[in-house]
Amino acid sequence: MIIDSHAHYSSFRYQNRFPYLDGNSEGLFRNHGTRQELFAHMREEGIVFLIEPSVRFSDQETQLALVREYPSYIGCALGVHPKYCMDAAWDKREKLWEYAMKNPIVAIGETGLDYSVPPEKSNRLYQKMWFLYQLRLAHACSLPLILHIREADRDGLQMLRNHKDLLHGGVVHCFGGCPKTANAYLELGFVLGIGGKLLQTNAEADILKETVREVPLESLIVETDAPYVLPDLKNVQGSKSQKSNLRNTSMILPKVIEEIARLREESPETVEQAVFANTLRVFRLHEKFFL
Ligand SMILES: [Zn+2]
Repeated sequence: MIIDSHAHYSSFRYQNRFPYLDGNSEGLFRNHGTRQELFAHMREEGIVFLIEPSVRFSDQETQLALVREYPSYIGCALGVHPKYCMDAAWDKREKLWEYAMKNPIVAIGETGLDYSVPPEKSNRLYQKMWFLYQLRLAHACSLPLILHIREADRDGLQMLRNHKDLLHGGVVHCFGGCPKTANAYLELGFVLGIGGKLLQTNAEADILKETVREVPLESLIVETDAPYVLPDLKNVQGSKSQKSNLRNTSMILPKVIEEIARLREESPETVEQAVFANTLRVFRLHEKFFL
């Protein structure tokens, strides 16, 4: 049984029929279908639950509508993504608080800091204000955090340390750092979200592989960030444009688990069971859903 701890299936990219990345024991391949067909297929393949975090403040209604459509299959996290917090007026924050309090959610996020955008195009102080507000919100709801921290580990870790008393665990989503950075987050009670990046071939993936080998198994969960963060597609049939149009899906997760197992010299079954248990623990899903 596998939980995708981070996916954006309410995205417009899953409307109508769409091309998506599928997988089986032979490998990854291209497929087409609707979201409903994809979910049915994912269930058959052991993807038992999904967590859908917010990106833009304005998307939260669409996100909540999808969760209402699949209440036993999707858990919702609410928040404002650091890259898009500029789109959310500061006085919207009370609306977020109200939504988080009245809806059955599993986490606050995605929230954090994203310095991949140059400072002149993103207000870093504003990112910090939204991040701190969401740390307080997570504490008020006693919920874990889904952290999006990109090229900002130093400031992100500093803020988390300064507000340690507000933390209720959570995940550093799409983690790609070295073992030292990983351990700094683990010390604060977070786990690492591992996805398509581990199946890429580049220098960052090599660093991530070293981390996945070294950290305790209790600190790993799996995710896709679907429709984004695709793995390496060199063994997938199709033209360049067909591949660039593919939506990522939770069907890659058995491959992510196999790769974690290979790196750690453990069996895929052991890794699958551990990441499943870790995800239940971090998001307290056994209390909320009958998984
Ligand atoms: Zn995301």
